[in-house]
Amino acid sequence: MALSGLEIYKSLPKENCKECGLPTCLAFAMKVAAGQAPLENCPRLEPGAAAALSEASAPPQQLVKVGVGDQAFEIGRETVLYRHEDKFHHPAAIGVCVDDTAEIAAIKEKSRAVAAIAFDRMGKVSKIDLIAVRHLSGDVERFALAAKAAADAAGRPVALMASDPNALRAAGGALAAQRPLLWAMNAQADIDGYIATAKELGLPLCIQGRDFEEISALSEKARAAGLKELILAPECATETDGLAFLTQSRRAAISRKYRPLGYPVAMTAINGNPVQATVAACWYILKYAGIVVTNVSDPAYLLAMAASRQDIYTDPQVPVQVKPGVHPVGDPGPDAPVLVTTNFALSYYSVESEITAARIPAHIIAVDTEGTSVLTAWAAEKLTPASVAQTLSASNLDRQVNHKKMIIPGLVAVLSGGIKEESGWDVMVGPREASGIVPYLKKQWSG
Ligand code: SF4
Repeated sequence: MALSGLEIYKSLPKENCKECGLPTCLAFAMKVAAGQAPLENCPRLEPGAAAALSEASAPPQQLVKVGVGDQAFEIGRETVLYRHEDKFHHPAAIGVCVDDTAEIAAIKEKSRAVAAIAFDRMGKVSKIDLIAVRHLSGDVERFALAAKAAADAAGRPVALMASDPNALRAAGGALAAQRPLLWAMNAQADIDGYIATAKELGLPLCIQGRDFEEISALSEKARAAGLKELILAPECATETDGLAFLTQSRRAAISRKYRPLGYPVAMTAINGNPVQATVAACWYILKYAGIVVTNVSDPAYLLAMAASRQDIYTDPQVPVQVKPGVHPVGDPGPDAPVLVTTNFALSYYSVESEITAARIPAHIIAVDTEGTSVLTAWAAEKLTPASVAQTLSASNLDRQVNHKKMIIPGLVAVLSGGIKEESGWDVMVGPREASGIVPYLKKQWSG
């Protein structure tokens, strides 16, 4: 039975030292009770009190780590159903599968190619986190060989997907130092064998089962045996079934603190039609999946998945920002135009995408407005003549261009006189919308 905030508060040091990041012990207790902060965040908690509280105040969803080093990822420990209530903490891992029936050289090539994929979107780089090796050959040694080839070639964590505990034991043992995920595709057939293998190797275990009842019973068994790092994987006939499992299991874990389903969920989006697979993968990512494994390896489709992930895991309380300063776009020469905007990502990329599409090299001055848009920043006095001049003077732009002219958004034409005064640069008033920039430059800019 979960403890209330007041019950937790009774066991806290009551020093209000703020080391947990919250202003008071009571605020911390409330966060812990809501599953939004771990007890370990209080460094002053007595070990005895910590032990007594830890089970009762355990987060509603277990944290699971797969892999080691820089490429490792963590999933789970989510605390809310809806992103606006807090934020989603651990982005879903995207995995691409390879089959152990393929030639070893082909497995290596595909794994290497998948690991090389990187999408730079809104200033953040997304990659493919996982190679999932499927045991389809029926040959245990072959599976271990294929898994090692994939792991070595990709340099990424691997998921070992098999319906045979012996195959998982062989491949898991060979790769144990790299902390792969053991994915028991028919967990109910030999749950004791899978649990024993995961315990012996100290690896996370994914339990695949047919429905809530079966998966709950299997996860309880694994938990009772001392396994903490579990992942649940439902067998779903349709994408609708998959979404139903994801939403209902998340609700059971977060709202009802139902421990048997308090683990991240792994989904497969495997389909001969890459569009169907991509649509399913995006749905699952947007609706709580902790891992999505797909057979699609074309970067064009994977980009849709990575973009869905980036969107849903963005903190809704923090405006998406780009680094303030002067950004070259293309390869701007000394006559290139200089455009002013704010460091709100949407504003910045609206400008950047217009000039990139038109292949017009330019410099963009992104003024630090704490991620607010042009008009909001102006109204809040964050986009001012002084802030524009300051951003300009902190760069060496005057040594890169042979003119002293900048174009400001038409929405803040009123700033033009002040900017000229503060910076000494001529100010041209550009269009009000980013869509007008290219026609404006073609007509007005002469360098
Ligand atoms: S770190 Fe511990 S003692 Fe300090 S304010 Fe937070 S809960 Fe209280």
